[in-house]
Amino acid sequence: MDNIDDLMADAIQLIGKSDNILIASHVQPDGDSIGSALALAIALTKIKDGIRVLKVDDIPADYKFLPGIELIGEWQNGELDLFIALDCADIDRLGPGKALALRARHLINIDHHITNDNFGDINIIAESAATGELVYDLIKRMEIGFDTDIATCLYTAISTDTGRFMYSNTSHKTHLIASELLKMGIDINSINTNLYQNRSIERTNLFLDSLSGLEMFADGEVAVTAITQDMLDINNAKLEDTEGIISFIRGIDTVEVACLLKEIARGETKVSMRSKMRIDVSRICNKFGGGGHLRAAGCTIYDDIDHAKKLILDEIKTIFR
Ligand code: 5GP
Ligand code: MN
Repeated sequence: MDNIDDLMADAIQLIGKSDNILIASHVQPDGDSIGSALALAIALTKIKDGIRVLKVDDIPADYKFLPGIELIGEWQNGELDLFIALDCADIDRLGPGKALALRARHLINIDHHITNDNFGDINIIAESAATGELVYDLIKRMEIGFDTDIATCLYTAISTDTGRFMYSNTSHKTHLIASELLKMGIDINSINTNLYQNRSIERTNLFLDSLSGLEMFADGEVAVTAITQDMLDINNAKLEDTEGIISFIRGIDTVEVACLLKEIARGETKVSMRSKMRIDVSRICNKFGGGGHLRAAGCTIYDDIDHAKKLILDEIKTIFR
C-alpha cells in the first residue's frame, strides 16, 4: 500500500489540475462529515472557483451554525472533474451522491474507518480520531492558510467524533491539532454551546421516552433501546434528535455494548452500536452489511424494528455466551 505522504501528494496534484470539484460525505450526516466537508470546501475556495459540497441528506440543526454552510447544495454543473468523498466507509454511504461519484472523472476517498473498502482512485485511509484530522493534514500540506472558519469546522469534526476528546480514538495528535485550531482564535464557548448545550425540549422528551424503554441483557453488559416512528411523532421529534441517547446508555456502569435501533420506515431499521472496553462492534455491524470503528459502528437492517432487534440481540448474545 502507498504511504500517506505519497497519497496526499497524489491527491494535491489531482486537486490542482481539476476545475469542477464536488465534495460530499455520508447520509445521516454527523459533525465529522459536515465539519470536514465544510473545512475542505472553505479551504479550496481560497484557491479555486465553484467548489461545492453536495447535499446528500438534511443537515441536522446542531450543525447549522457552521461557517460555509451555504456551500452545501445541489450540483448544477454538468462537468465533474473530481469528486472528493469524506468520512464514507463505502460508496453506498454517499446515498444520492453515489451516482455523481461514479460519473466524476476522478474520485478521492478520504476516511478514517477501518472497514473502508478503497472505492476511490486515490484512497487516503488512515487511522485517526476523525476524518477532520486527515482534512487538517491535507489543508496543511496544500499550504492553504488556516483561518477561524476552517478551524471552527475542523474543531467541530474532531470534538464530535471523539465524544469531546473522551473516546479511545483520541490521540496525542488529536490534541496537537486541537491546539493548532485554538491558535486560530476559534470561539470555543460558542462552538460548544451550539453543539452540546442547545437541546430542544422535543429532543429531551424523546430522550426520556427512549430511556423508559431500555432493556438490559447479559447481566447488564448489553443495553438496548429502540426509537419508533410513533415515538418521533408523539414527541414531535426528528431522527436527528436521537443524538446523545446511545452514549448515555453506554455510560451505565455495567454496560459494555449499547445498541440503539431506529425505525427509518416499515421494513427499514438503522442500528447504532457502541462499546466501552472490549467488544469490536464494527465486526458485529459488518455481519449486517455495515461497519465503522472498534467502539462505534452501525448498519441498516431491512426488516421491521422488532425483528431487527431480535437479529441484532442474537448476534450480540453469541459473544457474551
Ligand atoms: P452512528 O451510530 O453514529 O450512525 O455511526 C457510528 C459509526 O459507524 C460512524 O463512524 C459511522 O460512519 C459508522 N456507520 C454507521 N452506519 C454505518 C453503515 O451502515 N455502514 C458503515 N460502513 N458504517 C456505518
Ligand atoms: Mn468520522
